[in-house]
Amino acid sequence: MSAETPLLEVRNLKKHYPITKGILKREIGRVRAVDGIDVSVRRGETVGIVGESGCGKSTAATTILQLEKATDGQVLFDGEDVTTFSKRELKRFRRRAQMIFQDPDSSFDPRMSIGESVAEPLYVNGMNDRARRREIVGTLLEKVGLQASDADRYPHEFSGGQKQRIGLARALSVNPDLLVADEPVSALDVSIQAEILSIMQDLQDEFGLGILIISHNLGVIREICDRVGVMYLGQIVEEGPTDEIFTNPQHPYTRALISSIPIPDPHRSRDEVTLSGDVPSPANPPVGCRFHTRCPEIIQPDGYSFEQATWRHLMDYIYRVHDQNIDVESIFEGVVTEQEGYDDIEEVPLEAFETRLREEFEIPPSLADGTAEQTLTDSIELVFAHDLEEASAVLSAEFETVCRQEKPAEIHIEENHRASCHLIEQDTTAVVESPATDD
Ligand code: SF4
Repeated sequence: MSAETPLLEVRNLKKHYPITKGILKREIGRVRAVDGIDVSVRRGETVGIVGESGCGKSTAATTILQLEKATDGQVLFDGEDVTTFSKRELKRFRRRAQMIFQDPDSSFDPRMSIGESVAEPLYVNGMNDRARRREIVGTLLEKVGLQASDADRYPHEFSGGQKQRIGLARALSVNPDLLVADEPVSALDVSIQAEILSIMQDLQDEFGLGILIISHNLGVIREICDRVGVMYLGQIVEEGPTDEIFTNPQHPYTRALISSIPIPDPHRSRDEVTLSGDVPSPANPPVGCRFHTRCPEIIQPDGYSFEQATWRHLMDYIYRVHDQNIDVESIFEGVVTEQEGYDDIEEVPLEAFETRLREEFEIPPSLADGTAEQTLTDSIELVFAHDLEEASAVLSAEFETVCRQEKPAEIHIEENHRASCHLIEQDTTAVVESPATDD
C-alpha cells in the first residue's frame, strides 16, 4: 500500500431513508440525509465536517463507521471497502475506528466504575489479564489529565469535561488508528472546550491518529483541523485546507458560517450574514443549487441589478408562491387585525393586501425596475385571488435564476480546494473538475 493511501477515504457515500406508505410499505420518497459525499483522512491529520444542525453530518459519521448501513458509495479504510466487510471484519474495523460522542453520559453505565468502563473495550477485545487492564486504564487516565486512582470512582462524580476526557481514554484503550468525534465539545463550557481540543491534539501527535471531527462550530474546526469540508443538505459544498477556507472562502454558505463566528475582541466587529429560514427537508431538497432557497448571494436574472437584499426577499416570496406555501388568509386577517376600517376579510381591498404582503416579505413598496414591479404586482393580484398556480407561472416567466435551474459543478480553485457554486463558474480562471449530475 502506498504511503500516500489515506487512512480513510469516503467516495460518493449516500445514506437515504425510505419514506413508506400503507401496509405494504410502498416507498413513496426518500430522506436523502447524506447524498454523495467524498471525504478523506490521512494518518496524523484532523479533518472537520461542519454545517448547521440538520445538514446530515452526524449521519455521515455513523454511516462511515458502519453503525448504519450505507445506501451507496464506498468507505475505504486502509484501502479496503468496509461496506463489504463480514461481521468479523467489521468487529476488527470498529476496534481501529473509534467514535467519541457529544454526550459522554450516554456512553457510560452509571453502575460501572470509570475504570471498568475504560477497560470494557479491552475486555471485549480479549484482554483477560485484570491487572494488565488496570495498568493500561491508569496510564490512559493520566494521558487525558486525570489520575490513575480515578478509576475507582463513578461517572456521577465527574464534570462534563472530565467525562469527555474519560470518553477519550476509553476510545484510546484499544489503540485505534481513527477517531470520529461527533460534536465532542459542544456540550461543554468554552474554557473546557479548549482543554479537550488540546488533549485531542496531544493524543494525535503522540499516537499519529487520524481524526474526523463533526461540528456545527467553525471556531472549533478552525482550532483543530488541517482540512475542512462544509456540508449543506447532505452534500459537501466546499472543501479545502482550513487556512484557505477561512481566508478565501468561495461558497456563500461557507462565508455565512464564518461570518457568524463570534469575535472575542469587543473593539472589532464583523458583518454577520443572516441566513433566512431553516435547512430545507432532505426528503425534498431544492432543485438546482440546494442552497438557493437561502443563499444571500443568489444570482439575479440577466438584465436585473436589484440591491442584493431586495433580491433575496423577492426570491423568498417567489419560492413560497412556487411551493404554494403562502397562507393567504393570514395576510387578509393581518390587515383586519392591524388596520382600522375593516371588520371582515371580505372587506380588504387589493391595495391593503399588497401592502401587508410586501411588509411580510420585506419587499419595498415599489421596485425601481418597471418590468419587475409590474410582474410583482400582477403576481400579488393573483395571490389576492387565491390563484397561486398562475402567480407562480407569472413570476417564473420573469424571475428565473441559474441557481434554481442548474446544479453547480464542482470546481477546483486551488490545489485541494474545491467548491460548488455558479458564482465561481463565472470566474473563467477556475477549473471545472466534474460535471453537474443529479439523480
Ligand atoms: S449556486 Fe447560486 S444559490 Fe448556490 S451558492 Fe452559488 S450563488 Fe448561492
